[in-house]
Amino acid sequence: MKLNELTISELRRFLDNREIKPREVLDDIHGRIDAVEDKVKSYITITKDAAYEMAKDAEQAILDNKASLLTGIPVAVKDNMCTKDILTTCASKILHNFKPPYESTVTTRLKEQGYILTGKTNLDEFAMGSSTENSGFHTTRNPWDLERVPGGSSGGSAASVAADECIAALGSDTGGSIRQPASLCGVVGLKPTYGRVSRFGLVAFASSLDQIGPITKNVTDAAIMLNAIAGHDPKDSTSAPIDVPDFTEVLGQEIKGLKIGIPKEYFIEGMDKDVEDSVRSAIKKLESLGAIPVEISLPHTGYAVATYYILATSEASSNLARYDGVKYGFRSSSQSGKEDLLEMYMNTRSQGFGTEVKRRIMLGTYALSAGYYEAYYKKGQQVRTLIKQDFDNAFKDVDVIVTPTSPSAAFKIGEKATDPLQMYLSDIFTISVNLAGVPAISIPCGFTKDNLPVGLQIIGRHFDEESIFKLAYAYEQSTEWHLRRPSL
Ligand code: GLN
Repeated sequence: MKLNELTISELRRFLDNREIKPREVLDDIHGRIDAVEDKVKSYITITKDAAYEMAKDAEQAILDNKASLLTGIPVAVKDNMCTKDILTTCASKILHNFKPPYESTVTTRLKEQGYILTGKTNLDEFAMGSSTENSGFHTTRNPWDLERVPGGSSGGSAASVAADECIAALGSDTGGSIRQPASLCGVVGLKPTYGRVSRFGLVAFASSLDQIGPITKNVTDAAIMLNAIAGHDPKDSTSAPIDVPDFTEVLGQEIKGLKIGIPKEYFIEGMDKDVEDSVRSAIKKLESLGAIPVEISLPHTGYAVATYYILATSEASSNLARYDGVKYGFRSSSQSGKEDLLEMYMNTRSQGFGTEVKRRIMLGTYALSAGYYEAYYKKGQQVRTLIKQDFDNAFKDVDVIVTPTSPSAAFKIGEKATDPLQMYLSDIFTISVNLAGVPAISIPCGFTKDNLPVGLQIIGRHFDEESIFKLAYAYEQSTEWHLRRPSL
């Protein structure tokens, strides 16, 4: 048995019984990284030495009977969360040398729970994309088919979990970036409620939408990870000052009588037949377990992609104004020795940002500029309210909503890279959830004829991750999709 193939809860038992040592888990993780990382390319930075130091502390904690939730568990972190003195690039050349002087709240909490950081994972530059092809460094490959994308933007995190190069990972989700790659890589990904997890130290993309969450091998591990990172943080005023339950407590509870909404707008033309078939059989399965499917309508779904790409780009254009070559990161070197400050800014930003990031800064700046603000940003906010009301109305009648996570399974590298609109449309089922601020998970629910994983999305009410976990766990326990591993 290879220890890197186990889950958090399995390892917890072996570690606490002192049958294995944290160092041995790490040895197997590194054996795996050495064997497959050249092909998959999940990581931007691998923190091997620091990890072995953390493993020593973990071993001591276990010997002292002071083990916590994640003591000795190797976890990968998306490279847009600040880790003190460890490179944090956002997969952007503009931050190629940035070592934060402080630690994000989520990684601080993981530390308090005894985790071992395996490294920082690849993403689309500043989390803008759905394939990791927008990374300023390299493209991550899908462990199920190396010619295909792992999804994005948390593609490195999802691929590293699917390839057993870590036990669990953190991702961030602004419009689907945890759930879509989890779906395409055949693992579990949860976007918590907006406000559930502190974003202090998460490099901001679109602040009214960004949320951090876990990517794991099963539902139990997602609940454990959320236990570790959730809760109010005085350093993030958007984190909600409300109680955090123990999310593992609902696992195994009855789902009989739970009403699951099936939005008719989410079964659209153009969706892969295999995806639709898998999702429809998953709904049948849930019904056989006692859940009650109810057809519902989310009438403003058709406006979600346009609304998102106005609001997210507007917020990004403002958030990314700070990268100017002065305080940190890349600065263009002077050609003539005579550039003034404005030229230095312009050269730094032209050379430091990639194409997609520049496209979004331009779109967002346009949408916010005088004379256009009312027509675009303000309108976008109004439509966002309508989308949120769609969910409020639906949740009067149902407990959770079930949809596909993505309209297709993993697509080929290069297939959509030159067509931003096609790429944006691949987020069609995940974006509304961020606009409404509600939580949602993606769990494996089948495979296509080409042996590519398909994901089922379960959406809950604000701060009701528990109903999501309950349903997801019941489904997972009665199926075997989550047990399949890619052969690399
Ligand atoms: N794919 C979406 C985008 O490109 C969502 C990204 C995300 O959730 N970070 O903006």
